[in-house]
Amino acid sequence: MRLCRSGIVRRPILREDSLDIPKYALDILVCPVCKTKVELLADESGLKCVSCRRVYPIRDEIPVMLPEEATIAEENRSK
Ligand SMILES: [Zn+2]
Repeated sequence: MRLCRSGIVRRPILREDSLDIPKYALDILVCPVCKTKVELLADESGLKCVSCRRVYPIRDEIPVMLPEEATIAEENRSK
């Protein structure tokens, strides 16, 4: 029998102390529309789906993972 513990990876602490969303929470949060993982915005104002570009707002440090609350990010700087 072998126990796989490769899932535990130490990562450098970024600046996540300012927001009450731990890294593991981001790993399990997915876009409810396309089930793709979301990423924290640089200004920590929301969570953005990497696939459909919906941005879910963070209110009182709680991500609102509702499609009707999401906005679509404009990617004008793709080029
Ligand atoms: Zn999505």
